[in-house]
Amino acid sequence: MNKKWLLVIFFFLIIGGLVFFLFFRQKQNLKVEILTEIEDHQRYLIGIHYPKTNIQALDQVIERYIEKQKTYFLTSYGDSDYLIDRDELNIDYHYYLHNDSYVSIALITYINSYKLEQPIYEVCTFFYDIQKDKNLVLKDLLVGDTQEILLSILKRTIQSEYPHAILESNIDAIISKQLLIMNSFFINDKDLIFYFSPDMLSSDYYDMIEIKIPLESLKLSVTLSMSQKPNVSFPVYSAVRVIDPTQKVVALTFDDGPSNHTKEIIDILKENDACATFFVLGNKVTLYQNVLKESIANGNELGNHSYNHKWLSRLSVANFIDQVESTQKIMRETLDYEPTYLRPTYGSITNRMRKNTDLKISLWTIDTKDWKLKSVERIVEKATSNIADGDIILMHDIFERSKEALKEIIPILQERGFQFVTVSELNEIKRIRERLD
Ligand code: ZN
Repeated sequence: MNKKWLLVIFFFLIIGGLVFFLFFRQKQNLKVEILTEIEDHQRYLIGIHYPKTNIQALDQVIERYIEKQKTYFLTSYGDSDYLIDRDELNIDYHYYLHNDSYVSIALITYINSYKLEQPIYEVCTFFYDIQKDKNLVLKDLLVGDTQEILLSILKRTIQSEYPHAILESNIDAIISKQLLIMNSFFINDKDLIFYFSPDMLSSDYYDMIEIKIPLESLKLSVTLSMSQKPNVSFPVYSAVRVIDPTQKVVALTFDDGPSNHTKEIIDILKENDACATFFVLGNKVTLYQNVLKESIANGNELGNHSYNHKWLSRLSVANFIDQVESTQKIMRETLDYEPTYLRPTYGSITNRMRKNTDLKISLWTIDTKDWKLKSVERIVEKATSNIADGDIILMHDIFERSKEALKEIIPILQERGFQFVTVSELNEIKRIRERLD
């Protein structure tokens, strides 16, 4: 073969490779999971939720932000002496994917401490162009005079709805083009939401302000997925289980999910004719709706574990009700399902909470400590060694090890004659037994 042919073959290999590369780059779908970290420490409480995608650069900035907030919290707070007044860090998220092309993410930090008169709020957002692998700001997205239109809407809304948030003399300095390069907005299928965190506002203003602007009123340089009412279909939830109320029963419960482990957990339960109650967080219902629907269809029960795992017993009545009700609402709308039980975050319940919800409260009698123990065997031992009829076992469907432990726990307990029931069934059985006595 002469040199010329070698060159031609080489040329085609390069072109072929390039086409292949571009094709697969375009085809690469965005994968997302929501990670939850909960820490119930003697001196502080941490509840963090954030999306992890398969876009490395984006994941890195998100992780760096989370680490930074954690370090700040642990060095400046987190040293309270009293269990009743522990410092708290909570980071919640919003996530929306537009046409597999852009992903919008908001991370909202909340810090509460005995040292603070008011909780601290802070927001950090990303609007990521997946093809170009870069973060965009509002200046990149707004076409023509839309930049001025947006600023004037923000100004008008602040003046009319939050008149004390910004001093009139400062308003033009604050609501300026500077806002268009800040990471302080989120876009879903309906609205652009602009966040004013308290550090942008008057010194005596502590709340975060969210201003919603309908996407229809803005001209954007990118095509986003506008709201179309999806055809929501709900499965028929009709699992039947026969329980003998005279025999031993136990209720497995899983908190803090759903997560990428939940699907396998409900499969393990199904294969073993077992069931459980999942106390879910409202902020993960939309992304994990399919696994939740399947879970209900398999005969599991879903309970309410708040919207984003804030320490419920410390919240004002209004904020407590909001945590519970927004979770009920999203489950009703997404799953056609209404929980009847609330499991309070960090297991802490007050009379004030009881008075302000119609939901029944469910705690547990056996803590497997799966959030702390790294060994599957120790978790299995915690779940099975001291168990009695009517116990409620606490686990978490956010850890691989909990899933592995479950595979062993079910047969051990079934061997000893336990029937698995949901929390509602357990209470129903207690009532039946009282009548039988
Ligand atoms: Zn929890």
